[in-house]
Amino acid sequence: MTTLRSRREFLRLSLHYGSLLTSAMALGGLPALSHGAARRISSLPADPFTLGVASGDPTPDSVVLWTRLANSVLQQAGLQEAVIATAFEVSDSANFNRIVRSGEIAATPELGHSTHAELRGLTPDTTYYYRWRVGGVTSPVGRTKTAPAASANLEEFRFAFASCQQYEHGFFTAYQHMAEEEFDLIVHLGDYIYESSWGEVLVRHHEGPEIIGLGDYRNRYITYKSDPDLQAAHASAPWVVTWDDHEVDNNYAAGMAEDDQTPEQLLRRRMAAYQAFYEFMPIRLPVGRQGPNMPIHRRLRFGNLMEMSVLDTRQYRSDQACGDGRKPSCAAHQDSNRTLLGEAQRDWLFQHLATADATWNVMAQQIMMAGLRSVSTDGEQLWPMDIWDGYPHERSALLNHLDAVGTPNPVVLTGDIHSNWAANLHLDFDAPNSKIVGSEFVGTSISSGGDGQDSNDYGSGLLANNPHVKFYNAQRGYVAATLTPQLWRSDYKVMPYVTEAGAPISVRKTFVAEAGNPGVQEA
Ligand code: FE
Ligand code: CA
Repeated sequence: MTTLRSRREFLRLSLHYGSLLTSAMALGGLPALSHGAARRISSLPADPFTLGVASGDPTPDSVVLWTRLANSVLQQAGLQEAVIATAFEVSDSANFNRIVRSGEIAATPELGHSTHAELRGLTPDTTYYYRWRVGGVTSPVGRTKTAPAASANLEEFRFAFASCQQYEHGFFTAYQHMAEEEFDLIVHLGDYIYESSWGEVLVRHHEGPEIIGLGDYRNRYITYKSDPDLQAAHASAPWVVTWDDHEVDNNYAAGMAEDDQTPEQLLRRRMAAYQAFYEFMPIRLPVGRQGPNMPIHRRLRFGNLMEMSVLDTRQYRSDQACGDGRKPSCAAHQDSNRTLLGEAQRDWLFQHLATADATWNVMAQQIMMAGLRSVSTDGEQLWPMDIWDGYPHERSALLNHLDAVGTPNPVVLTGDIHSNWAANLHLDFDAPNSKIVGSEFVGTSISSGGDGQDSNDYGSGLLANNPHVKFYNAQRGYVAATLTPQLWRSDYKVMPYVTEAGAPISVRKTFVAEAGNPGVQEA
């Protein structure tokens, strides 16, 4: 009975959710408001832009602008159920002398009064400034930038990548430094929020216990999005975001929860978490979302210099083998039918890699691809089951495919592991002399894990056991990447502490990859 009831409820929610998306799609990005029920508000009791502004997913002629009206302010005004006309303006200068685009988006209660304006017809490779206005209040100004034309000969591209920002573990100082750099792009590789509390040193606090429902996820994003350093980074450049596990539940795999939730409960939870992700992120409405399914893998191109396939290794993966954690291999681990990407995403990726023609072909994803096995005290190989080591057949298929089709200069970008790494991607991690087919740059966390340390010892003989790993550091920060047609440069930027605000940042190490010569080298 319980099962039937929850299935019915699930279906009802799916249908409801589907119709919301349709109405949002009809509205999003239209220059004029077409929603009959939307109200133009003449005044508000307080600033509704307390979550800041953002932009994302730039193409040569388009970018998504985002904000979300503060529910507390709408509540004060008795507008929490209203559809609210929210105006945007876009200029080619920071002083807004000339407005090049303007319009209104209907902020609906169903989508938490978030707004996504999908602009069209912009000029390639151009910096724009934008702001929102509602009830006589104007938002902070955001800076964004369109991508260069797909065939443009781009001489240089600068972007940052980051991940893992457990709010309780530290301040988001890294974002303050990132904002000052005014990158062409900022890439977030997941763990933007955390669903639960953990750790011993907590410098600030989440509200409530582990989050499950839509209201919980919304409140968690509001806590994170209220951080001024995070807001500054969003306002400084367009972002490209993907998610990891903590946007839903630690180490979840498709419909499998970490602990005692049933698959149906996890899918309902996933639907809430994914909706909140959409509400709070500057992304286009993902095509094909229905109920708990929300495809977010996508591709961005920056001239002929870089193409980036943004991957999702959580939504479609087979359950972690052998009970998860660091374990000896077991039968399930060797099952060649297990997947990280799922069939549809894998086909989409593999097909494209076969014809990719940019200089640098990036896979922006979550989990470490290079082998990271350790050895137990009795000499047994231990495999970390949550990362690519736990899915050896699919990793091998991908690396062999890159080699077979000759994808130019594959580069894998990784988050999740709360530490900095640089590694060579070999066809066979058991054979140190096997061919190197790509480079992996792993960025540390923004705050997860607290202050961290500048250590070159991971423990368990791990570095000695993995000679393809060339660099390891466990401080907090981000990676600044500078690309030219000849060279990929990754500057690992770290801070001495995050448990107090205001830490300085410096380059701990620089690793490069040369075009035409796969693998990482210390600069
Ligand atoms: Fe994390
Ligand atoms: Ca993670």
